[in-house]
Amino acid sequence: MKTLFRELEKVYRLVDKVNGHGRVELLGTVDVKAHRLPIYGFQFGSKDPTAPTFGLFGGLHGLEKIGTELAVYFLYNLVERLEWNKQLQELLEKIRVVSIPLLNPGGMYLGTRSNPNGVDLNRNSPSTSDGKKLFLASGHRLSPNLPWYGGVKDKLEFENEILVEFVKKNMLNAKFSLALDLHSGFGVKDRLWFPYSKTSEPFPYYDIASRIKNLVDSNMKHHIYQIEPQADSYIIEGDIWDHLFDIHYNTKNHKEDIFVPWTLEMGSWIWVKKNPLQLMNIDGMFNPYREHRFKRVMRRHWRLLDLYMNLCANHEGWLYE
Ligand SMILES: [Zn+2]
Repeated sequence: MKTLFRELEKVYRLVDKVNGHGRVELLGTVDVKAHRLPIYGFQFGSKDPTAPTFGLFGGLHGLEKIGTELAVYFLYNLVERLEWNKQLQELLEKIRVVSIPLLNPGGMYLGTRSNPNGVDLNRNSPSTSDGKKLFLASGHRLSPNLPWYGGVKDKLEFENEILVEFVKKNMLNAKFSLALDLHSGFGVKDRLWFPYSKTSEPFPYYDIASRIKNLVDSNMKHHIYQIEPQADSYIIEGDIWDHLFDIHYNTKNHKEDIFVPWTLEMGSWIWVKKNPLQLMNIDGMFNPYREHRFKRVMRRHWRLLDLYMNLCANHEGWLYE
């Protein structure tokens, strides 16, 4: 099939690749211009909804293509390994890996951060903030002509409805789950953010997030991540992951069921600094242009994704120590 842009092409390739090693579901389609673009969900491993689950998400912001690339890269590699690696096959009998690698295909096709309705999907949830907000960037309901527009109050955009349903169904019944949502663009550092973004108050699993930070520090020595609550960088109103966290926390027995959504914000300003011509194209603000840099980004973060999968699988080994 002739596809419209490179990242969608790669998602299609992953769909073909899965072939019995996992399950692929067409979760919905988005019409933009004359095209109907798919949103795919992937599931690998155990069918037991209570099994430990690692969730990987990308392309929530259409401009941030590198997140979709990284999610597809990881999953493609997972399938490659599942074809011959018995240990991995046995691991996946006990855990689940689930993913929506391209949540906002309309925005990616149009080259916009927002979805085709002009809504920033990470400002769109009912989650409200009590912190000091930035003008516009923290989210607003003023106009889709302004960036960071959160849409109509109390109305989830179609893509977010899909995300919420997918996460509820595939992650929130797990005894232990970690989500990682892949973004790019903010600053020169790669940041690993845990909730909240709506407030500077500590989120309920602060101690668990701290333990994960310690494990990243000790298992990936010399890593490049700045690990902190998202609110340390800026406050967000309408954050979809704060919303999902609260849904889980308010409805589950949170002593027994743990769900921690993380964001990996790949600092793209370093790519711009090293190749200022990227500034001539808005795409270049969010994605590495040069091939060697692209490959380095894939390699650099693959280990982190693998570690998160293993932290889910072996949570009993570190969570209750
Ligand atoms: Zn983003």
